[in-house]
Amino acid sequence: MSGENDSAYESLIQFLYRAPVALIQLQKDGSIEMLNPMASQLLMPLSQDGDLVNFFQVLQPYAPGLIRLCTNFKHEQGLICEGMRVAINKNRRDHPESPAVLSLGLLKVDGNRLMAILLDATHEVVREQSILASRLASAAKLDALTQLPNRAGALELLHAMTQRARAPSGDYCAVLFINFDRFKQINDTLGNEVGDQVIVLVAERLRATLRSSSRPPGKRSSAELAARVGGDEFAVLLDGLADRDVASRIAARLLDRLSKPYIIGNHDLTCTFSAGVVALNSDAYDADDLLRDAAIAMAIAKAGGGDRFEVFCQQMRDDALLRRGLETDLRYAIERGELYNLYQPVVGLLAGGKFDPAAGVEALVRWKHPVRGIVGPLEFIGIAEDCGLIGAIGEKVLEMACRDFVGWKQRLGTRAPRLLAVNLSRAQLSQEDLCDKVKAILAACGMEPDKLQLEITESLAAQGKDIQEQLLRLKALGVKLALDDFGTGYSSLSSLHLLPVDTVKIDRSFVTLAGSSRHHEVLIEATVKVARSLGMNTVAEGIETEEQAAVVYAQGCNKGQGYLYSRPISGEAVEEWLSEMA
Ligand code: C2E
Ligand code: MG
Ligand code: MG
Repeated sequence: MSGENDSAYESLIQFLYRAPVALIQLQKDGSIEMLNPMASQLLMPLSQDGDLVNFFQVLQPYAPGLIRLCTNFKHEQGLICEGMRVAINKNRRDHPESPAVLSLGLLKVDGNRLMAILLDATHEVVREQSILASRLASAAKLDALTQLPNRAGALELLHAMTQRARAPSGDYCAVLFINFDRFKQINDTLGNEVGDQVIVLVAERLRATLRSSSRPPGKRSSAELAARVGGDEFAVLLDGLADRDVASRIAARLLDRLSKPYIIGNHDLTCTFSAGVVALNSDAYDADDLLRDAAIAMAIAKAGGGDRFEVFCQQMRDDALLRRGLETDLRYAIERGELYNLYQPVVGLLAGGKFDPAAGVEALVRWKHPVRGIVGPLEFIGIAEDCGLIGAIGEKVLEMACRDFVGWKQRLGTRAPRLLAVNLSRAQLSQEDLCDKVKAILAACGMEPDKLQLEITESLAAQGKDIQEQLLRLKALGVKLALDDFGTGYSSLSSLHLLPVDTVKIDRSFVTLAGSSRHHEVLIEATVKVARSLGMNTVAEGIETEEQAAVVYAQGCNKGQGYLYSRPISGEAVEEWLSEMA
């Protein structure tokens, strides 16, 4: 080695020794091999026993997830974390001058060795907060949990952003509205405290991701700021963007970062998020509108399965308005008598294509909207569930159906339908007073409980203990239960025995293919066999052709329903249809 090299090496060592950042070389189990004086200075006050033997142990009380973070890092080398904020509990009187927040970087050098870099980030944090506070009219606009601007703060900043004059090109502003996909689940299963910790970590990750924006400083937007605008909702405000796509790229990157695991105590949580993006370069937008439009796009991303973002377009707002309009109208639909039932006959399948027309009917609700005409249940049941109207609508449908059913019995005698099927939706099943309501309606109409069949979809029945208990309570009333749309949900033939149902309705998508797809025929056959072995009936839904009827009959289905026999028809038409069939 030449003398020049020696002295270069020596100055490097000197530099590392004197550097104003803490440098620590450690083994993968955290044992400290080497550290510079700045490292001792920062770490010593944190050590419980005055020893600096194991790095992870020293930081354990402040960053409990650190060991896991390192063991979860499966690559041979690379950056494990960068700029990770470690908050230090400042209640220690013995070291009043020590930092309140450290910034930690960890690099895996090889299979056995790590390098850690620590910086005092106290001033940085204080500065960030004071900049924020000075930009916000009052501290009341900061969220206490995350120290991010709250909704009012976000709106104030957005307002300033939208009021600013914009260059004709390359000067976009954007809002990203970000929402947890299933935050309630975290609170429900792990408790609110863990929920709060996740919120804090998400806020921190948003800050860090925006800070370490991969764009060169000159190209950075003039403002990149995260806010907490609701319990589990965040907004990111971006300004000075070159084009719309930049906002989408940032949204993609944020979602990617946010979906990495969060380590809280012993929990290793993975959350996904949905986001909506609005980007514009005109000032013709109100701050409230911007946030609302971003939220509309977010709701669409969530409805599409979550873990994705959608860019807002005008059509989304029109749809949302239409939906809101329907929601308002739906509130009056019941009292204005706009809801009515159609009935689709359910027939008993017999040999030679013959059928028993009086096996039953299924009530299918319709809404006669004063302007939009007839609206089908698929369009408004979801809205009714969301706005809390489903209970009232469900009761109305059941009551109308029971009255019609009892009327047929009086007028048609033995030719009247023997069973009345009525659909229940997800939200109805979780209503505590459902059983009482059903019981009261049956009694008021003078209908025997075992003539009523309540239909629930397969995916619903498979959910949770509460639903199971509700189903058992309904059964105890004496009503029959059917599993609707079987084959489209999650439960399988092997779990059919767990469900307290009397009848399985095989979904139309299977029946449609009966006669042309051997695969679907086998599935129908298997369903019928399993159902039978459990003492359950089977109904084939959506039979449209003689051939489909023959196939499902050959496979042992008891009953059928579909356009081949009758479309859904009015109550009066049911009487005529039955008379014709007799
Ligand atoms: P569902 O219970 O599976 O009802 C059968 C649906 O299939 C009905 O659609 C019916 O018109 C249709 N259908 C019957 N046979 C055929 C056929 O041969 N070919 C074709 N292409 N379609 C056939 P509808 O009336 O639009 O109802 C759709 C869904 O809305 C129902 O599916 C049910 O889940 C729900 N629904 C209907 N009424 C109510 C209600 O009062 N309350 C609740 N919660 N949901 C309801
Ligand atoms: Mg049904
Ligand atoms: Mg069905």
